[in-house]
Amino acid sequence: MNFSLEGRTYVVMGVANKRSIAWGIAQSLHNAGARLVFTYANERFEKPVRDLAATLDRDDSLFYECDVTSDEAIEQTFENIKNDVGVIHGLAHCIAFAKREELSGEFLNTSREGFALAQDISAFSLAAIARSAKDLMTEGGSILTLTYLGGERVVENYNVMGVAKASLDATMRYLANDLGKYGVRVNAISAGPIRTVSAKGVGDFNAILKEIEERSPLRKPVTKEEVGDTAYFLMSDLSRGVTGEIIHVDSGYNIMGY
Ligand code: NAD
Repeated sequence: MNFSLEGRTYVVMGVANKRSIAWGIAQSLHNAGARLVFTYANERFEKPVRDLAATLDRDDSLFYECDVTSDEAIEQTFENIKNDVGVIHGLAHCIAFAKREELSGEFLNTSREGFALAQDISAFSLAAIARSAKDLMTEGGSILTLTYLGGERVVENYNVMGVAKASLDATMRYLANDLGKYGVRVNAISAGPIRTVSAKGVGDFNAILKEIEERSPLRKPVTKEEVGDTAYFLMSDLSRGVTGEIIHVDSGYNIMGY
């Protein structure tokens, strides 16, 4: 069995800055020997992503703009990646968005437009991306997305994003069934709260973090490096029998009752 990712290429979507969970995943995959392909939402993120990748100790990464609200952009991005690298062995989907005003107060007040937007960027994009990416996974592959407990249970203020994560979880399972016959596995990591730009948009995020410190079995918040190492497991042959699964990397918080 091969634990190394040397000679393999992985697409990491959603690095915005050094706090991004996607960056933790990129570092773990890089340390395991993988070549990385980064995609970013728009030109504003190009320099930060390139600057971060320049801190890695190999200079073999590739960069593409890909706004996942556009089918054409997704198709074109994977066409470009195919032309440049040929085969990919996995993909990390680390993308979500909801309007800030819908991440506090009551879910009841969610707007039709805000609901659709959160679903489109945070859940449907996984399906659209998987459709294009699978054609490049001719040697089999592993697709990974990032979800959160707020899709399984009610977490105050998470609201419309919780519903989008429930949809993402189901999307992941349906894709796992469709893509298994091509040797492509699809899984999710349910990360505990980590202070990122996206997380800061969730109302009273500090209270969610404090709860993890006080009540999770490990009594500490998780780090993006811990999520990254589980991503490495899911991208490697060690997890070859795992698909359609949600792995909680949350200091064990999800097992707790009251
Ligand atoms: P982040 O803000 O660093 O990353 C979110 C990324 O989504 C950014 O790079 C942003 O550019 C990208 N994005 C948004 N709209 C896009 C679009 N239209 N096209 C392409 N990219 C777009 O925050 P993060 O916390 O690292 O988030 C990564 C993933 O992890 C998200 O799915 C998030 O819901 C999930 N997650 C985060 C936490 C947490 O506490 N931080 C916990 C569990 C799950």
